[in-house]
Amino acid sequence: MKNTFFLLVILVLFSTCKNEEELKAISNNQNKTAIDSTKMKVNEFAIVIHGGAGTILKENMTPEDEAAYKSKLEEAIRVGYKILNEGGSSLDAVEKTINILEDSPLFNAGKGAVFTNAETNELDASIMDGKTLNAGASAGTRTVKNPINLARAVMENSPHVMLSGIGAEQFAQEQGLTIVDSSYFFTENRYKSLQRVKEYELKKKADKKAAFYDATIKDSKFGTVGCVALDKNGNLAAGTSTGGMTNKRWGRIGDAPIIGAGTYANNNTCAVSSTGWGEFFIRAMVAHDISALMDYKGLSLQEAAHEVIQKKVPELGGDGGIIAVDKYGNLVMEFNTAGMYRASMNDTGELTIGIYKDNEN
Ligand code: ASP
Repeated sequence: MKNTFFLLVILVLFSTCKNEEELKAISNNQNKTAIDSTKMKVNEFAIVIHGGAGTILKENMTPEDEAAYKSKLEEAIRVGYKILNEGGSSLDAVEKTINILEDSPLFNAGKGAVFTNAETNELDASIMDGKTLNAGASAGTRTVKNPINLARAVMENSPHVMLSGIGAEQFAQEQGLTIVDSSYFFTENRYKSLQRVKEYELKKKADKKAAFYDATIKDSKFGTVGCVALDKNGNLAAGTSTGGMTNKRWGRIGDAPIIGAGTYANNNTCAVSSTGWGEFFIRAMVAHDISALMDYKGLSLQEAAHEVIQKKVPELGGDGGIIAVDKYGNLVMEFNTAGMYRASMNDTGELTIGIYKDNEN
């Protein structure tokens, strides 16, 4: 009797162990089949930049223009790469890289900002720290030389997330940031673009919305700049800086300074910077939507970016693109326009630079 009892206990134990082994094996197999190559660390650190998206066509560019854009993109990205390679933070890399682009008249940010209808330059910028989810932004400033520095100061040295206009300029001054006369932002090219748009507007004598929403006019906005980075500590950061859209009125603010639309970073998912027709990017909450698709639906960065840029934004009627990097170091540059000034560098220092769609560079 005693023996039979022991035999029974041994049999039960054996079958439990076997079940556990089987369960382990099944779950191991499931894990194996569930391994997604996009969810493995591909780069210890990485950086991507954009210099705006739009109808950028090879036939409209001279070889000199092309070379000038490419060389400025390379100069900028190498600044951020160096910071990351030496163990610096993604926030520093983003800020310093954007400074180079802001100081160049080639891009619609800082020195090259476009003109408003009132012939002023009103600049917007934002930055976000993926580790803390802290963020800072400034909108409609006319005298701050590098709006991305102001955005970072708002994030780090104020209790607020977004400052605008005169108040933002006062804060910049208190922070010791470089203040310039508003004439610093005057560039002949941008001024001529505004005049062209105004002439067109007069000719059309269209309804109130037409000038701003006309297809030919929406493309006079190229050149917003942005940067996203992953550093060696696994921290993500994103930043965006712009002059907005030519002929904007009434203190219009675009997506660039809006956290979740123009800029978003979260160490759990990715860092994103947008460029495009801001009104649509605000309504589609582009940058946060990409992160949310990864977070809640388990999409890869590439899938999420494709969903938002190739489906959601165009279905609303908007256009543009994004750059992004995820926590594994996957890099994405997705756009639905003819071109987007862009560059990326991975942890081996491999550099890619592009302007047009379809690998025409
Ligand atoms: N998104 C910017 C804005 O609407 C413009 C751009 O990216 O070109 O202000």
